[in-house]
Amino acid sequence: MKQTADAVVIGAGIMGCAIAHALAERGLTDVVVLEKDAIGRGATADAAGGIRQQFSTETNVRLATYSVRVWETYGERFGVEIGLRQQGYLFLLTDPAEVPAFEANLALQQRLGVPARWVTPEEIAELNPAVRLDGVVGGTFCPEDGWCDTYGATVGFAQAARRLGVRFEEETPVVGIDVAGGRVVGVRTPAGEIATPLAIVCAGPYTRQVGAMAGADLPVDPYRRMSFITEPFAALPASLPMTIEFSRGLYFHPESRGFLFGMGNRDEPSSFEKTVDEAWMLATVEALVERAPAFEEASVLRGWAGFYEVTPDDNPLLGWVGEPAGLAVAAGFSGHGFMQGPAIGACLAELILDGAATTVDIAPFRPSRFAEGAPAREHNVI
Ligand SMILES: Cc1cc2nc3c(=O)[nH]c(=O)nc-3n(C[C@H](O)[C@H](O)[C@H](O)COP(=O)(O)OP(=O)(O)OC[C@H]3O[C@@H](n4cnc5c(N)ncnc54)[C@H](O)[C@@H]3O)c2cc1C
Repeated sequence: MKQTADAVVIGAGIMGCAIAHALAERGLTDVVVLEKDAIGRGATADAAGGIRQQFSTETNVRLATYSVRVWETYGERFGVEIGLRQQGYLFLLTDPAEVPAFEANLALQQRLGVPARWVTPEEIAELNPAVRLDGVVGGTFCPEDGWCDTYGATVGFAQAARRLGVRFEEETPVVGIDVAGGRVVGVRTPAGEIATPLAIVCAGPYTRQVGAMAGADLPVDPYRRMSFITEPFAALPASLPMTIEFSRGLYFHPESRGFLFGMGNRDEPSSFEKTVDEAWMLATVEALVERAPAFEEASVLRGWAGFYEVTPDDNPLLGWVGEPAGLAVAAGFSGHGFMQGPAIGACLAELILDGAATTVDIAPFRPSRFAEGAPAREHNVI
């Protein structure tokens, strides 16, 4: 293993790989990415692959919009097919109290050029005839939203970074971050130490633990989320949009020859429990059948659990930690990180190499915002 590097990235999920690639593309090629497991096998592998621009904060809308343009051209740029399906995100609202917030979010999105629009129950029936409209007061739809293969996208960034000179060390956990005189000076692993002035924490749900190695408090906690996939299911068309009943956090979209679906259990406490909870699976199937009765005929092929990496305001920690100097973080995406990977890569590279991010102003997500009493809450969390 190399003994020195200009920068060490900790974690090879979508964030670590996108940032390493962006740094190398900008000329900082003496970069090592350390991964305790394998590339793209963390939260990124467990994601539903959803890509949307329908957020409530300007920063998230801009991060998403920039990223969608990259996802649309990913195959040409990186030579990797990611199976992008822009079939839209359809939000269903069942609580009239949610309407004003969604209207305000829509105005923000439209001002920023996102082609999202309000849809009436009649329009919802046209966009997704499988939806039972009971209790639905309206919704929003953005035809550019969609989903893709998260693993292919992550590996694509890693391969491109490697071609530029970045080193990836898999099965190499970071076990310590050395600090001297208030600055990062090295990163330790069981295979040896790398002297570096710059460590970038991209450890997803494990970010709190990695930050603590440098004495930094990075408030990211793991929350179990489960996804399920049906056996091939031809009763519903594969052209349906990603459909989300917002109040219950219930979602489904076509995947392979079946459908992928899930529902967030918002009462479950933080944990690193990664098993599938059968009772929650049943509750999810019940909710799905209630909202889209055709699924009564579907069978569940398999389910899996992964971790949302949640911060106190459901937005990521992006940028310099402050103390120690030389420690940066890009983590805590609270369940909507995969889709933002391309923009986060560009922004972190700008912050590190130019002193400030210009692709998107990420200052609202600075890690110090909680200590400053300036959280940046995201409303559209699924
Ligand atoms: C069920 C589910 C559905 C989701 N659906 C979506 C979706 O539709 N759209 C979307 O955008 N997002 C979705 N997400 C969220 C998305 O998966 C995450 O926001 C995103 O993948 C985070 O990427 P990351 O690189 O920060 O983390 P990760 O992919 O977890 O990468 C972090 C890496 O750091 C490594 N690591 C940790 N500690 C150490 C250490 N000490 N040393 C070395 N390496 C270390 C880990 O092994 C891991 O590989 C979903 C998540 C789940 C669980």
